[in-house]
Amino acid sequence: MCGIIAYVGHKDVQPLLLEGLKRLEYRGYDSAGICIGGEPGFFVRKAAGRISVLESLLDEERAAPHGRIGMAHTRWATHGAPTEINAHPHTDDKQLVAVVHNGIIENYVAIKQFLTDKGHKFVSQTDTEVLAMLIGHFYQGNLTRAVQAALHEVRGTYGLAAMGAEEPETLVVARRGSPLIIGVGKEEYVVASDAAAIVEHTTQVVYLNDNEMAVLAPGTFKTMTIDDIPVTKEVQEVEFSLQQIELGGYPHFMIKEIFEQPEAIANCLRGRLDKNEGRVVLGGLSQYSRDIVRARRIIIMGCGTAWHAGLVGEFLFEDLAKIPTEVEYASEFRYRNPIIEDGTIAIAISQSGETADTLAALREAKDRGALSLGIVNIVGSTIARETDAGIYLHVGPEIGVASTKAFCGQIVVEALLALTIARRKYMSQSVLEEFLRALDRIPNQMRLVLRQSDLIRQVASQYSHRDNWLFLGRGFNYPVALEGALKLKEISYIHAEGLPAAEMKHGPIALINPGMPAVFIATRGTQYEKLLGNIQEVKARGAKIIAVANEGDDHISHVADHVLTVPDTIEPLQPLLTVLPLQLLAYHAAVERGCNVDKPRNLAKSVTVE
Ligand code: GLU
Repeated sequence: MCGIIAYVGHKDVQPLLLEGLKRLEYRGYDSAGICIGGEPGFFVRKAAGRISVLESLLDEERAAPHGRIGMAHTRWATHGAPTEINAHPHTDDKQLVAVVHNGIIENYVAIKQFLTDKGHKFVSQTDTEVLAMLIGHFYQGNLTRAVQAALHEVRGTYGLAAMGAEEPETLVVARRGSPLIIGVGKEEYVVASDAAAIVEHTTQVVYLNDNEMAVLAPGTFKTMTIDDIPVTKEVQEVEFSLQQIELGGYPHFMIKEIFEQPEAIANCLRGRLDKNEGRVVLGGLSQYSRDIVRARRIIIMGCGTAWHAGLVGEFLFEDLAKIPTEVEYASEFRYRNPIIEDGTIAIAISQSGETADTLAALREAKDRGALSLGIVNIVGSTIARETDAGIYLHVGPEIGVASTKAFCGQIVVEALLALTIARRKYMSQSVLEEFLRALDRIPNQMRLVLRQSDLIRQVASQYSHRDNWLFLGRGFNYPVALEGALKLKEISYIHAEGLPAAEMKHGPIALINPGMPAVFIATRGTQYEKLLGNIQEVKARGAKIIAVANEGDDHISHVADHVLTVPDTIEPLQPLLTVLPLQLLAYHAAVERGCNVDKPRNLAKSVTVE
């Protein structure tokens, strides 16, 4: 998921690679490493933390060779903590091949077992080392063949570069699912996971497609599929500025991350939906699975968006897993003298895994005897380390301050956990499989919703001058209403109230004045009819109705002033689709008002103070 830069040609490779890594820094990473070849064997150095740490290490040693071939990596950990050992490059145990890799190898556990049985010894916890070992295992004097053989065995995603100790002039690169671009210079090639690291060397590039690879040596360039069928690639001109490239052509990280959600959710689900066996695989929980299934109570702790994801979790755990669940503001839980009975699981939700309030609440719950689970995005973060077990989001780095893809990732993870428990208790296999199919469809359904961005921009611009908005929903969509209001507040500084739709008539209805925008999440579900009633109540008082509804809902189009549509899915999964139009609405309203979307005033990405 993070950064790769590799080079073969006539230049001194070390400064070039370090420069390239810095160009990739904006993507977010936790460790870095470099591999220089040219002579038999490799020179490998890695460091946890910033690229500058790796740089000082190389400076201190003054030992780095002046090779003309090499590769480097910024890692954004998915499997194993962000330590020096887990940083890339990884080599096989005979030091025959070295690999840098972006992505996730889904079946790494089975392959690791196979290789361990063959006597191979692993040193890291990563899926990437398994890939390196597998390439080494197949290596018989031809790196290209060994990479092809290994890629036939792996499931998952990769952008990778590989070097062979016995082939000091050859760089083999391949991709499936994770981007890889080859810059073509004079007798030199610069490969990178995004063009930001290439454009200072050349603007002539070749884009590899999925399942394609390239074999590069000074002055030779061959492209083929991983099945070894030659492919002729067109050399294209990159036309973006550096800044545009970092943002992938989007004007802000927030909108980039909103649009990344189909991919992010596919990554979050990767390796966790076993469609053949019809089951959920959550490796990180296996040690505690009995305690989790027997839990008598769940307490979810979070702040802001994570708290909203927790509210969706409350519905999921109660409805599917039949476990009484409470959602706590982490900051309040800690100071309330909370009661933790036997059989209580405390789940801490935090994108960064460093949120101070959530961490403090987690410690309190643990002290009082709860089994603690973490739902975090950043591997090796404090919450990840301090919980008994956990599930990572794997949605990739989130740079925009307003959280978007993490929210959907948190809901997916909660759903997977709730389904795991439910199947062990009351849920039939066929119902579980229906859920798994529905989850599998979510990324494509998200793409359909995102296509309405232009329409949503028009709606946002019509109301962006209004200083008060309402967001209303019921059931599973009530937390989505809260999240929609929070997004709008955070980045556009518009005052917005998110409420359960029925609650409105107990007070907030007094706020409504003619023309006030009221956003209803009105997908078909158990409370649909009731929600239509709530819409009428608000409309009767002059509000303008923006409805998020299912495709083909003719009824809504008669009552609402604007309809934003989402495809049908199982009711408990609706928030994954209904939140997208609200993220876009907030984004476009903020842009319309000239706000700094990625750095909203007074807010920080990771709140590490109580
Ligand atoms: N899954 C790999 C790891 O955790 C690659 C992560 C990345 O893309 O940076 O090491």
